[in-house]
Amino acid sequence: MLFKDGSKLISADEFDNILKSSEIKNLSIGDNYIYLNTGSKYYKTAKITFEIQKLQNLPIKIKTHTNLGEIVSGIGVIILILIGMAVFLRALNLMIKKPSETPIRTLNQTNLFQENKSSETNNMNQPINSTVKFKDVAGIEEVKEELFEIIDYLKNPKKYQKLGISLPKGVLLVGPPGVGKTMIAKAVAGEAGVPFFYQSGSSFVQIYVGMGAKRVRELFSKAKANAPSIIFIDEIDAVGKARGGSRNDEREATLNQLLTEMDGFEDSNGVIIIGATNKIEVIDEALLRSGRFDRRIYVQLPDLDERVKILEVYLEGKKHQLNVLEVAKICVGFSGAMIASLINESALNALKRNSNFIESKDILDVKDKVALGKRKIRSFDEKEKNILSVYQAAKAISAYWLDIEFDKVTLMGDFILDVDKEVLSKSELNNKIKVYLSGAIALDIIFKEKYTHCVEDIKKATNIAKAMCEEYAMSKHIISNGNDVEEILSKALKEQREFLENTKENILLLAKKLFEKEKLSKDIIIEVSKNVF
Ligand code: ADP
Repeated sequence: MLFKDGSKLISADEFDNILKSSEIKNLSIGDNYIYLNTGSKYYKTAKITFEIQKLQNLPIKIKTHTNLGEIVSGIGVIILILIGMAVFLRALNLMIKKPSETPIRTLNQTNLFQENKSSETNNMNQPINSTVKFKDVAGIEEVKEELFEIIDYLKNPKKYQKLGISLPKGVLLVGPPGVGKTMIAKAVAGEAGVPFFYQSGSSFVQIYVGMGAKRVRELFSKAKANAPSIIFIDEIDAVGKARGGSRNDEREATLNQLLTEMDGFEDSNGVIIIGATNKIEVIDEALLRSGRFDRRIYVQLPDLDERVKILEVYLEGKKHQLNVLEVAKICVGFSGAMIASLINESALNALKRNSNFIESKDILDVKDKVALGKRKIRSFDEKEKNILSVYQAAKAISAYWLDIEFDKVTLMGDFILDVDKEVLSKSELNNKIKVYLSGAIALDIIFKEKYTHCVEDIKKATNIAKAMCEEYAMSKHIISNGNDVEEILSKALKEQREFLENTKENILLLAKKLFEKEKLSKDIIIEVSKNVF
C-alpha cells in the first residue's frame, strides 16, 4: 500500500493536452507508462499508445525509472505466498508432532495444570544447561566455599570413587526467599558443567494422585542416566513436611518415594540432590537423616558488604549518581532479589522523571514499594538497627565470657551454635540461659525499655530452664514445682544484669561496630570483650 501507484491513468490525447496546457513539474518514463506531475496532480498514460517523439522538444528533463509500486506489489505477492506456505507447513508439523517435543520449560514455568499428562511428565524432567557462574552470585562467599568440593566432585566423580570418598548425596540450602538459593544451585551446575534438573516440591504433590511418586522416580532415573548431574528441588518442604498431623496420602507417597530413591543411590554415582527451603523446622526428620540431606548450608539475608556487592552487580552498565555504600545501608533486611528489583524500579523512576541517571531520590521513592511488595520482609530503620546492635552486642560479649560457642555475630538472627553434645552440665545450661537473656537485659539497662523482638530468645531460655527442671532434675526439687523454672530464670537474670552493667561501655563499642558492619567475626568480639573490667 505504501508504494501504491497513485497516478491517474488517462488517454494519450488527454496526456498530450496536459503536456501542452499545464506547467509540468516532472516527467518520467517507466517500463509500461509515461508519468507526469503538474505539481498538484499525477497522471500516467500507456507507453505504447503515446508517441515518444512528442516529448523531445519539451523544456524539461525526462527521467527514466522503473515504477517502484509495480515492483513492490510483485514482491508483496511473492511474500504473501511464502507466508501462506509457512503457516500451512507449521500447522501440518504441529498436527503430527508428538506432545513430548514441546519446548523445554524455563526455570520459572511451573505450570502444573497442563492438559496432557504424558507431555507434562516428560517436560518436568528436561535438564537445563545452566550458564550461571559463581561470579554472578554476589557475596555469600562462605556458601560458595562449602560448595567447591561438590563442584570438584561433579567435575570428576571418578577421582573420588577411586579414593573411596563418598560425598553427601543431598545438600539442603536453608534461607529466606530471594537470597539466591536457586541461583546458587544453578551456579553449581554451571561451574561443574553438568545438567541441572529443576523441580519444585509443590509441583510433585499438587497434581493427580499417584503422579508425585511416579515423577520422583522418573526424575531420578533421568538424572542418573545423565550423571554427573544435579537435581534441584525447590520448596522441598512441600514434599518433606513432617508426617503426622493432617494426613496427605499423596504427599506421603511422594516423600516415601524420595526417601527410597535417595537410599537407593550408590555412593558416588555422580548425582547430587540440592534441596531448598525456608522452613527447615517443618521438614520430616527422615529426610534430614544421614545419607539423605545430611549437609545443610544456611544462606542468610545479605549483610552490608554483600549488599554493596549485589548492588554493584545490578548497577553495572546503568548510569547513576549513587553512593553505593549509602544505598546498601538503606536497604537493611533486603534479599538479593529485592535489591535487584530496587534497582530496576529506581531506573524506571529515573526514566519517569526524565533523568539520565539513577539518583538517591529514586531509591528513596521506590524503596518502600519494593519492601512492601514482599510479604514478611524485614526492613529496619536507624532506631531499630540501633536496638538490634545493642541487643546482639550484649549477647556476643556474654557468649564470649560464658564460653558459649559461636563464630560470628550478625545484626539479625540467632548466632549461638547448637553444639551436639551428649553431656551438658548445669552450669553450661545456666550460661546458655544467661546469653539468651542478655539482649533484653542490655536494652533495659541502656534504653530503659523492653522490646518485642526478644521473643525467640526468651522462649529459648525458658525451654532450657523447663528442661532443667522437668527432664534433668537440675532444679531445687527433684520433682520440680511450678516455681523452679521461674527461680532459675530470675537467678540468671539477676547475675547477668550485674555483669552487663559492668560491661556497658564494651557493649556500646561493639554495638557501634555492629551497626556499621552488620556482621562481626569472633576475633573482633574477643578483642572488644577482653577489655572488660
Ligand atoms: P531463592 O531461591 O533463595 O528464593 P533466587 O535464587 O530465586 O532466590 O533469587 C532470585 C533472584 O534474586 C535471582 O534470580 C537474582 O536475580 C537475585 N539474587 C538473589 N541473590 C543474589 C546474589 N547474591 N547475587 C546476585 N543476584 C541475586
